Amino acid sequence: MPDRPSLVAVHNGIGRQPAEAPDVLSFFPELAYVADAVKVRLDGLACARCGWTAGLRPGGYAFTRTPGGCLGWAVRVCQACPPAAPIGGEPASAVAWALAAGAVEDDVLAAWGRRQAVSVPVGRLWDMVRVPRAVGFGVLARLPRQVAAIGPVLEVPARETVEFLVPPGTAATWPSWQPELHNVFCVGPGGVSRFPAPALTLADGRRARCGRRWLTRVEPQRRPTTHAAGLLECLLAELRSGSRGDACR
Ligand SMILES: [Zn+2]
Repeated sequence: MPDRPSLVAVHNGIGRQPAEAPDVLSFFPELAYVADAVKVRLDGLACARCGWTAGLRPGGYAFTRTPGGCLGWAVRVCQACPPAAPIGGEPASAVAWALAAGAVEDDVLAAWGRRQAVSVPVGRLWDMVRVPRAVGFGVLARLPRQVAAIGPVLEVPARETVEFLVPPGTAATWPSWQPELHNVFCVGPGGVSRFPAPALTLADGRRARCGRRWLTRVEPQRRPTTHAAGLLECLLAELRSGSRGDACR
């Protein structure tokens, strides 16, 4: 693990935590907002993923955000839950994932080999919610408290946006008529995004040459998308709170 923990930690399994409990090996909100039940997990007194207290073993690290940066916690997991995996993605499965979405294999391999982003169609495996960057970071700080699973989330500096992958079909029912959502776009079939290699994450500070990077771990098998209703709820809460600037760095 790096000496200076990053904002996003690993989350390589959903575990058996109930929906209301955040995955402490995942994205994490400000330490001040951490519930006591979660502190127990951070302190290694309960399984970091499911809260079980028997048969604990080393589980890697979880991270919380603090005003000055991030704190890393040496957490433990039970026998049934997987420990944290090294930060990064599994390249082979990520390539297969991009191809299943409609990307061209030669393009994917060539682009990712050069640390560039590759065009991937929207609408087959996922739709995409595109939000202003500050709003996106604020939503990410809220999401773990709202939903168990957060899928791949992409930062796009050139556009000053953050893109969440959501289940296909979301765009057809997205309430874009709501005035709060005038700066939020849900892209469906016919749209396209450009994905950097899965190893280019916030975790180690690396980016694609175009500046794009993943803000969460890319795990297509386990967390292909973010729960759309949960995302919408967090998004509306964030936009209505007016604290969008605080939640960003
Ligand atoms: Zn467990």
